[in-house]
Amino acid sequence: MGAVSAIFALSALAGYFGSIETLYRPIVGGPATNPLTAMTFLLLGSGIALGRGHYGLWLQRILGFAGLVLTASVLLDAKIGTDISKTFMLFQDQVMQDLAQGKSKNMGVNSAIFLLLSSFALTFNSVRKINIALASAFLATGIPMISLAGYAYGIENFYGQMSMVTATAGVALSVSTLSMTAHNGALKAVLSPYIGGSIARVQVFLGLIVPFAVGFLIIKTLMNSGEGDFLGIYTVAISWFIIILVCASAVVQEKVDSKRRAAEKKLLFVAMNDPLTRLPNRRKFFDVGEREMLRRKRTGADLCVLMIDIDHFKKVNDTAGHARGDEILKTIARVLVDSLRAVDLPGRLGGEEFAVLLADTSLVGAQRVAEKIRQNIEATAIEGWTDIYGPITVSIGCASAECKSGLDDILSTADQALYQAKEQGRNRVTISKSGSSTKLLEDAKDG
Ligand code: GH3
Ligand code: MG
Ligand code: MG
Repeated sequence: MGAVSAIFALSALAGYFGSIETLYRPIVGGPATNPLTAMTFLLLGSGIALGRGHYGLWLQRILGFAGLVLTASVLLDAKIGTDISKTFMLFQDQVMQDLAQGKSKNMGVNSAIFLLLSSFALTFNSVRKINIALASAFLATGIPMISLAGYAYGIENFYGQMSMVTATAGVALSVSTLSMTAHNGALKAVLSPYIGGSIARVQVFLGLIVPFAVGFLIIKTLMNSGEGDFLGIYTVAISWFIIILVCASAVVQEKVDSKRRAAEKKLLFVAMNDPLTRLPNRRKFFDVGEREMLRRKRTGADLCVLMIDIDHFKKVNDTAGHARGDEILKTIARVLVDSLRAVDLPGRLGGEEFAVLLADTSLVGAQRVAEKIRQNIEATAIEGWTDIYGPITVSIGCASAECKSGLDDILSTADQALYQAKEQGRNRVTISKSGSSTKLLEDAKDG
């Protein structure tokens, strides 16, 4: 794009060189691209095209600075009536000739401001002040855009002294100056390959094209026939267009975002649950369990934990194979869940070991639940196993939360109770014999 604007500039200069007026004055009697304007375009266009790498950036700095000097001199001349810019101008004679015929003037103020801002963008980009470069480039972009709109609508005030060649080359220069800074800020967001970028690009494109087209149609029809308040119609049409654009982007955004939310939910489930039994895994069990423990500390409510281990499960694997062992694990997990209330928290802590957190449950209540689980599992007939080898059984250890204990403490207490259950011959429920737990149980027996 930098090269494109340089080519436009070269063709305008060639027009002066070969006395081909249409090359620098595309509309007969209209504004011309001044040689100084063309020179500045050439400098800046080359600065963008060549501004890569260490030496490229140095070149860009020099060319950008040269652009600053040229445009500043034009603005200074316009402001205080000096003639500094003539010092730099090529093809003086032709310009003077045209001037004598009342045609061409110097570089217009609009073009000068545009090129000054573009020179700023280049100079700042070359010293890696990207945000300032980006802001200058954005500001600069507006000027040739307005000018082109003026040509399209036939509003002379919009293009003033800017020739169509300058306006077109200006758009090319703007785009290239902007893309020079494309890895930053607003442009980075607009060019992003993700959904935000895609929507923004469509909106920017439509935001340029639609108001442009609507304005064009309205001006061509209503203004010429002198009917109606075209500005009112234009405003309403554009407002509606903006509303439709925003709604359409919300629809796309929602569609993509709901897919993302579903994927996130799935990921969360995979991260928190055991794939075989679909029970909460160790991580989730501890996450929820710790929270429950904190709540209990505040309210002083009862809380118990069960540790469950399948008896002689190695034998199941050895006899029936690992895959069959997995199936049996799934069955046991289902029976476990069916034996619990919805508020209880089961988890597969590893291998064939499960745990259950029973909130608001006394040790007596926990023992009852454990006994129910044990009986239900023992009573579950597993095809191809129970009739030959007898029922699958589990041993369960119960423990209740002491006032100071954490989840780890209560789990290890329950594990000790489980160990005792295994010691005493398996297929049974054992309660932790420590402190108040035992007492509670004695009370329960007495009662
Ligand atoms: P015990 O009554 O003392 O608990 O005897 P056990 O054979 O069950 O002994 P232990 O609990 O130490 O054995 C765990 C066995 O469970 C070892 C392993 O073969 C089996 N196991 C652990 N995880 C899985 C699994 O995901 N799938 C299958 N099929 N087997 C598993
Ligand atoms: Mg085990
Ligand atoms: Mg076991």
